Amino acid sequence: MTDTVSIEAPKDASSSVVAQHAATLSALPFSDTRDFDDAARGFLGTVEHARITSPQGRVVWSLEAYGFLSDKQAPPTVDPSLWRQSRLNMHHGLFEVVPGVYQVRGLDIANMTLIEGDQGVIVVDTLTSIEGARAAMDLYFHHRGKRPVAAVIFTHTHTDHWGGARGVIDDAMLANGVPIIAPDLFMEHAVSENIIAGPAMLRRAQYQFGPFLAKGSRGHVDCGLGKSMAAGAVALLRPTDLIMATGDKRTIDGVEFEFQMAPNSEAPAEMHFYVPRYRLLNLAENCTHNFHNLLPFRGADVRDALAWSKYLNEALKMWGGKAEAMCGQHHWPVWGKERIDTMVRQQRDLYKFAHDQTVRLMNHGLTAAEIAEAIRLPQSLEGAWHGRGYYGHIRHNVKAIYQKYLGWYDANPVNLDPLPPVESGRKYVEYMGGSEAILARARQDFEKGEFRFVAQAVSHLVFAEPDNQAARAMLADTFEQLGYAAESSTWRNAYLFGAQELRHGMPKTPPRSPMPRETLAALRTEQLWDVLGIRLNGPKAEGKRIVLNWSFSDTGESFVLNLENSALTYTEGVQADNADASFTLARSTLDEVIAKQTGFREAIDAEKVKVSGDPAKLTELMSLMDEFPRMFEIVEPKRSVVT
Ligand SMILES: [Zn+2]
Repeated sequence: MTDTVSIEAPKDASSSVVAQHAATLSALPFSDTRDFDDAARGFLGTVEHARITSPQGRVVWSLEAYGFLSDKQAPPTVDPSLWRQSRLNMHHGLFEVVPGVYQVRGLDIANMTLIEGDQGVIVVDTLTSIEGARAAMDLYFHHRGKRPVAAVIFTHTHTDHWGGARGVIDDAMLANGVPIIAPDLFMEHAVSENIIAGPAMLRRAQYQFGPFLAKGSRGHVDCGLGKSMAAGAVALLRPTDLIMATGDKRTIDGVEFEFQMAPNSEAPAEMHFYVPRYRLLNLAENCTHNFHNLLPFRGADVRDALAWSKYLNEALKMWGGKAEAMCGQHHWPVWGKERIDTMVRQQRDLYKFAHDQTVRLMNHGLTAAEIAEAIRLPQSLEGAWHGRGYYGHIRHNVKAIYQKYLGWYDANPVNLDPLPPVESGRKYVEYMGGSEAILARARQDFEKGEFRFVAQAVSHLVFAEPDNQAARAMLADTFEQLGYAAESSTWRNAYLFGAQELRHGMPKTPPRSPMPRETLAALRTEQLWDVLGIRLNGPKAEGKRIVLNWSFSDTGESFVLNLENSALTYTEGVQADNADASFTLARSTLDEVIAKQTGFREAIDAEKVKVSGDPAKLTELMSLMDEFPRMFEIVEPKRSVVT
């Protein structure tokens, strides 16, 4: 820390971080470079820098700013193992997996797999954005010739696997009934995972993926699973054919597919498949070149590590010894029966080990933090590159497993009702002898590389005294070293973004845009009421009683919406005699109002809504609804008081 360096600029790596990286270099099998061969194998061509722009000229994806990753040698500010993964994720373009099967990789965080049939091509997953999917299809057609899309398969419910569907399927193809195949309960989960907790998740995702970090060796290098999140337009298409059970088969354009269901694994609805014609196994996102997340930092329903492992074992039973190529919907394929068998077995055991050992230690009485500290992967998995925690990590995945079985409470009553961060921060600072005393001790421990505790201690000071610039700078420097030391991209992004916000404040962003019309149309009416319910401001609703009848002319549904006791509930299939007002309208009109394409008043004036009773009661109800901010403080106290 010299005076010539601006307090806000990223710093060098400390000597303890440099020493840690040196140890990593000698501990891991860096001489094994087969992944680099595999990631490059079958390359047919690409788009320069993988640069994709929207029709308005907005860049939705580009790897140009990651040119610094061409250096083989990791800089001191990046973990060498993460550097290796970041370089692997730089491969981009169209690749042949086997003759007849192709993948577009590196044009999005996810892959598009293209399987050729008798006349056309079956498209597996459609990337995050319409622009990205269009670019991927153009690249494929350019190298393989134009051919009709025979079907689209969505392997699972996450946006990076279906968001770009409209870039693959146009109106004419939809009218012609091109099949869209997806696992059972696809629609239910495709939107619901992010609806109720969406506003909190979006902000938290900034810490997971690091979109606001500068790209560079002191900033963003990767997301582990792929380079970064894609921007661009997203639209959901409703599947036309659901796969219901393991063993279900489909013949599409002359090609047979055998499916395996994998619900509640990486996604709540997910499936694997095998294509005998090409001896091709696709395990979607359940067997990737990293230890995946059992609970991503953005927040989610916790995933089932035990089920995940069982699906991989079942896949081995069904297709082990048959498949000669295995590709997933992230990262690069592997070839050869033996290597496929090894990778699937190791991935199976990675999830099983994490599960069983966490539960074992839990049943010995260890808490989540203690298990994270105690657990070590077996030697046989430590050296498997595809098992490294670039996205998920053993140290946070064990906490997810603990949470799945026992929840947030560690059973020590000290943690039952602790003071929240600001109040406890003030008391800690007082007990520890004030800010100067804390910072003096912190500086000593920082020099010794004790970053984890320095962060804990100084965070109390930042919550007690958010305007204490020395405290903020100290915590930022500490987060930064923790970020430089992290092998997991998500840890790195979280720490470095925390440092950035302490130094520069939160990024200025435009306000949240209303939910897109297509997404709204995909939601069941009950889900709309659920979303309305979580926006109700309880204190404002104190003492209010409002009853509204709803009747939807296009869907034939009816509901009573009921506000009492500061809680909004609904009952389907009935109408209340004592309703304050009754509304008859098309569900699509309600979607237009929520998407802010029209106002409710305008819709009434345009006679799209029939009203009886007192419509002002709806206005009153809507005045009780909160709008959620796009940004809120995370590493420091909330500036605005929420009531
Ligand atoms: Zn994905």
